[in-house]
Amino acid sequence: MKGNPVIPPIYMTATYKFDNSDDLIDVVQRRNGYIYSRWDNPSVVEAEAALAQLEGFDRALGFSSGMAAITTAVMAIVRAGDRIVTTREIYGGTFELMDSVLPGFGVDVTFVNCSNVDEILAEIDKGLALLYLESPTNPLLRVVDVPTLAAAAKTKGAAVLLDGTFASPINQHPVDWGVDVLIHSGTKYLGGHHDVTAGFACCKQPFSDRLWNLRKIFGGVMDPMSAFLTLRGLQTLELRIDRHNQNAMAVARFLEAHPDISAVHYPGLPSHPDHEIAKHCMSGFGGMLSFEVAADFDGTKQVMDRLKTIKLATSLGGVTSLANQPITNTHVALSPDAREKAGVSENLVRLSVGVETVQTLIDDLTQALDAI
Ligand SMILES: *Cc1c(COP(=O)(O)O)cnc(C)c1O
Repeated sequence: MKGNPVIPPIYMTATYKFDNSDDLIDVVQRRNGYIYSRWDNPSVVEAEAALAQLEGFDRALGFSSGMAAITTAVMAIVRAGDRIVTTREIYGGTFELMDSVLPGFGVDVTFVNCSNVDEILAEIDKGLALLYLESPTNPLLRVVDVPTLAAAAKTKGAAVLLDGTFASPINQHPVDWGVDVLIHSGTKYLGGHHDVTAGFACCKQPFSDRLWNLRKIFGGVMDPMSAFLTLRGLQTLELRIDRHNQNAMAVARFLEAHPDISAVHYPGLPSHPDHEIAKHCMSGFGGMLSFEVAADFDGTKQVMDRLKTIKLATSLGGVTSLANQPITNTHVALSPDAREKAGVSENLVRLSVGVETVQTLIDDLTQALDAI
């Protein structure tokens, strides 16, 4: 029959057949084909190629989640006796990995304040195997001066890993910053519709071979359906991010002018402490922001409970706007003292601004804030 599908099939296969034993042996030895889907799968390879091209890295590897990408990448780089320097403001799951899992394997982890460049440079100077960064951060959208810090880590021969999930590949371009491995939680902007759990590690050599091998051993590989959904999401990524950027800027300005809001954290606002770094390191300010309601915990909770268009949910980066109070979920494990240090107050709301008509979001926030 004439005509080929515009959209490639989803290769729902766990294994691959060969015409003869020599072909099979050849593929096992030279890795020049498919043998088993925990190693590679055509749907996953296609998603990987699309992301590698978008980011300009040698290769991207698909994982079953952002955390699978992070854990595999970190374990591929560090050994017992090694030292990691990282920031306190990293994603909750990553913090647990650094704080309670890796020390058990003999890895020493030093936490620094992400906006204290002098402190970070001093810690880098003491020697390290891995500099692990995340930018922008959750939930205060601090923007880290990654090029400066990565350059310092390189003089010590360290690997540099960056979690760029919040920026997406459209708003931040770390390929020339000295970053060896760039992480994306595909669950967020790449998939973009709150319907897939996935992760990627974009790698430069020799890291891509090491990560591929460890992914094969740990087994946290992306599945073909998630690869398909991610590929579908990637087709509209630039369009969506444009809209996320515009909507978030408009919502941030609206909130900043609202009498019942005591603070807005958005790197696109001149009032944000990292506005200048953001202008330098990002080509768009993103769809994430947080704000403080001029109320206590219960008053803030009432505002949350009145939201209609904006859904009360964790996660971020999808077409639908989502909001939550970080102290009730992502930062629930922190002690009051640690919360204060992290700047996560009881009246803080994190908002993932979606792609809805922006006036509907402003109307929703207006009616919800009438609770104050
Ligand atoms: C969500 C997230 C992760 C973890 O990704 P999962 O897909 O949920 O495993 C890691 N880093 C950041 C910045 C995230 O937002």
